[in-house]
Amino acid sequence: MAEVLVYVDHVDGAVRKPTLELLTLARRIGEPVAVALGNGAEATAAVLAEHGAVKVLTANAPEFADYLVVPKVDALQAAYEAVSAGGSLAAVLVPSSAEAKEIAARLAVRIGSGIITDAVDLEAGEEGPVATQAVFAASYTTKSRVSKGTPVITVKPNSAPVEAAPAAGTVEALSVSFGEKSTGTKVVSRTPRESTGRPELTEAAIVVSGGRGVNGAENFHVIEELADSLGAAVGASRAAVDAGWYPHSNQVGQTGKSVSPQLYIASGISGAIQHRAGMQTSKTIVAVNKDAEAPIFDLVDYGVVGDLFTVVPQLTEEVKARKG
Ligand code: FAD
Repeated sequence: MAEVLVYVDHVDGAVRKPTLELLTLARRIGEPVAVALGNGAEATAAVLAEHGAVKVLTANAPEFADYLVVPKVDALQAAYEAVSAGGSLAAVLVPSSAEAKEIAARLAVRIGSGIITDAVDLEAGEEGPVATQAVFAASYTTKSRVSKGTPVITVKPNSAPVEAAPAAGTVEALSVSFGEKSTGTKVVSRTPRESTGRPELTEAAIVVSGGRGVNGAENFHVIEELADSLGAAVGASRAAVDAGWYPHSNQVGQTGKSVSPQLYIASGISGAIQHRAGMQTSKTIVAVNKDAEAPIFDLVDYGVVGDLFTVVPQLTEEVKARKG
């Protein structure tokens, strides 16, 4: 059976959910071989094995933390060479985070392969894996296949379920050497973001977003309270971010983050094309807007015409009541 390389996104050994989703997709096209780099790489093996990794290639070196992405590209390339030398390699799958997409793009250039970014689904095809993408602000879906080299495919979070599929998860050390180019850009400082206790926006199963209709930073607690009742992340439209009501790191859309949760709740957001571009692949979309003609209602599964300051707190109370 062909092997599929899966690049592992983890923080000190804690594997992030999008990587487990990648393992589900990888199993559709072959046997997953995970590549975990940096601090805690070996500690990822147990959870990767539980989700289908037959092998976990690990490497740790100060270069991974001290420099930007190039050392990680070197390591992924070393894994690609090791696995493709041993037989058939069906694809390299990488999560669609900003850093991992850069790693994927650089790898594809180095190995002369085609790349597909931001896939939302993946299936086996007769001539290689077929990836689904949502394009033109998700007005269309396209299915594509890489026709040159080993497909390198990045996949958006929430594109597949996390499935238990116990496998060997044998840990093997990956030998990586770094050249002069690997250390061209040094990290000079790292400042952890203050934790809100909420899930990461791009990984959250539920996102509750507020727009200009929230009418001030002091009112965003209405959005946050609904988010907290649902265990959701908080998003914001660019209008709300530009007004300084919410941080840019929470902006959803063309110039913000792209999210694809199970449930997206937009409150006081009109549904401009640039906002849609970041959320239209959400599985279920709910909007609260006092204007029945707002374009957001063209794409919702459920719409409430009403004042968000009346509707959203009621929703929050209802969710809390049902949770007991
Ligand atoms: P508005 O369009 O002003 O809509 C506010 C809505 O709130 C209205 O529909 C109104 O009826 C409703 N409302 C008001 N009060 C209430 C209330 N009390 N209860 C219920 N509803 C109420 N936008 C993004 O979001 N993300 C991006 O990444 C992004 N990138 C952009 C990139 C470019 C190059 C450009 C040109 C624009 C971009 N925009 C982006 C901006 C985008 O075009 C819109 O201006 C923006 O999305 C509007 O935000 P909004 O829906 O919150 O505000």
